[in-house]
Amino acid sequence: MLKSIRVRRSQGSQFIPDPRQANPVGFRGRPVIADRACETGCQACETACPTRAITLQPAPAEPVSIDLGRCVTCGDCAPACPSAKLSFSNDFKLASTTREGLVLSATRPAPDPVQVSAALRQRFGRSLKLRSVSAGGCNACELEVNALSNVNFDIGRYGIDIVASPRHADGLVLTGPITRNMALALQSCWDAMPAPKLVIAVGACAISGSPFEGSSAIERSFLERFQPTLYLPGCPPHPLSFVCGVLDLLGIAS
Ligand code: SF4
Ligand code: SF4
Repeated sequence: MLKSIRVRRSQGSQFIPDPRQANPVGFRGRPVIADRACETGCQACETACPTRAITLQPAPAEPVSIDLGRCVTCGDCAPACPSAKLSFSNDFKLASTTREGLVLSATRPAPDPVQVSAALRQRFGRSLKLRSVSAGGCNACELEVNALSNVNFDIGRYGIDIVASPRHADGLVLTGPITRNMALALQSCWDAMPAPKLVIAVGACAISGSPFEGSSAIERSFLERFQPTLYLPGCPPHPLSFVCGVLDLLGIAS
């Protein structure tokens, strides 16, 4: 008993009172692209990137850009850079309401702010039920989605819950690159959800296919038919990115 109390005391409070003010020490979050010149002819970061998240362009275009929708935050680009131009912050506010909003550069250092939707706020601002579908995910994003309901992040305090049935859901939380084997199940889940409804794409695989892009084993036409309302990049995304992104979308104060 005493041991349990000691352990509990050493852990302190795990509850995060205000997710927007959290400081996840050690988290590899938003890439930072310094505003300094590249070495002539260098392509080291582009070569090091396993998911083609980095695009290099000749001047006068922005020379280096990173697409968060493809980035798996492996960190390999930073040490490859001879100009120390790339690094990572622990910023977890990475959500965007547009796909283009996820592309960062030296002059566009953070994703576009999430656009508050008045219609969604009115409809779901006090209660948003989400159904999670892992469409071929590796279980990393899914574990972080599970974590949303734990004592740390406690997304239920905002009236946001993960539910067991699509019949009870207002939104679809999509993880994974959408494998052919899951394409029909994903569509069936969506069809079973009552309108109005929205899609939240969680993780690089869901957003772009990322390392699986171009594979014959994935079938992503669902996202051509139903555009996500919110993109939550990461590999996997931090639960704080999810919480803050959804709160911003619904205009909920934390
Ligand atoms: S951290 Fe992202 S941009 Fe850098 S190499 Fe890895 S996947 Fe590519
Ligand atoms: S960011 Fe660094 S690694 Fe990438 S092209 Fe510029 S100098 Fe080379």
